[in-house]
Amino acid sequence: MSQYLDAKYAALQPYTPGEQPRDADYTKLNTNESPFAPSPKVQLAVASEVACLNRYPDPAAHELRESFATYYGVETDCVFFGNGSDEILAFCFQALCPQGAAFADITYGFYPVYCALYGVQHTLVPLREDFSLVPEDYYGMGRTIFIANPNAPTGLALSRRQVEDILQNNAGSLVIMDEAYVDFGGESAVPLLTKYNNLLVVGTFSKSRALAGGRLGYAMGSKELIEDLNRVRFSFNPYNLSRTTLAAGTAAIRDEAYHDKCCRSIVQTRAETARALEKMGFECTDSHANFLFCSHETMPAQELYTLLKERRVLVRWFDQPRIQNWLRVTIGTKEEMDKFFFELRKILRETKD
Ligand SMILES: *Cc1c(COP(=O)(O)O)cnc(C)c1O
Repeated sequence: MSQYLDAKYAALQPYTPGEQPRDADYTKLNTNESPFAPSPKVQLAVASEVACLNRYPDPAAHELRESFATYYGVETDCVFFGNGSDEILAFCFQALCPQGAAFADITYGFYPVYCALYGVQHTLVPLREDFSLVPEDYYGMGRTIFIANPNAPTGLALSRRQVEDILQNNAGSLVIMDEAYVDFGGESAVPLLTKYNNLLVVGTFSKSRALAGGRLGYAMGSKELIEDLNRVRFSFNPYNLSRTTLAAGTAAIRDEAYHDKCCRSIVQTRAETARALEKMGFECTDSHANFLFCSHETMPAQELYTLLKERRVLVRWFDQPRIQNWLRVTIGTKEEMDKFFFELRKILRETKD
């Protein structure tokens, strides 16, 4: 730490991203990326945009906005884009939590980090014993509610009816639904936008659209909420999306067939993976995301994580109360899952005797 750092940042505990090893010989099942390359149409669009990089990008993202709004059936002025959904969540914590924030005790680890960064008071609402989120626990919160749906790292999802229940019982408060994983089997709250102006839906191109490296997130909400987000964005960085990111996002949203194919493959591999894990003595939550959350009957999760890593397979283990005996395993290609099971079987065999 230098002598120049403002004292109010000295105690910040930054978010720890999943490991990104530099050597490529890891099977990476630890950060919920897509195992598939972006659509070939995305690759072409990005390549042809490179020649224009001498010019600033369109701060209003016109083309992307049109295609996106058409895809989701919303008005173009009800859409916002950010440099990853992380940037949008940061804007939300910074500007849309005047009464503080509320979120689950087990959820996306960035929420408490943003609270610390922006000095936002937050209430932790514990998930139930089985990691389920119960709408009643959120009635009349009196602060901005953040819910990842499907949740991370549990994979459990709320129905649209349950989300509506939370919205109806928080009429005076904003409810932010983080739908990073919705395309893998969740029920989106987007159809509720016409009925509830206390709803903001946030999502990302990082997972189902295979653009984690492109950094593109979105938000949908009332025109007024989108105006608020733009007020912050234009006071910070109007060019938050590069030309190549805009080109990639536009091509990705237009290639519906490729997106559907990738999502179907993940959902199918997820079901096969869960069945195989259960046969090996794991308990899995009912994941609606592109990962499984699982716990072995005898083998401690931390040990499994370490032994898998030694064998060049990366999964995610969280050193956090309540979930210390759980692993989050991203669904990869069938070949990647074969490698995972090959090493996992060896580990379980070797440690039995
Ligand atoms: C991955 C993830 C994000 C962040 O996604 P980016 O768009 O890559 O910043 C946000 N929320 C949840 C719950 C996530 O899992």
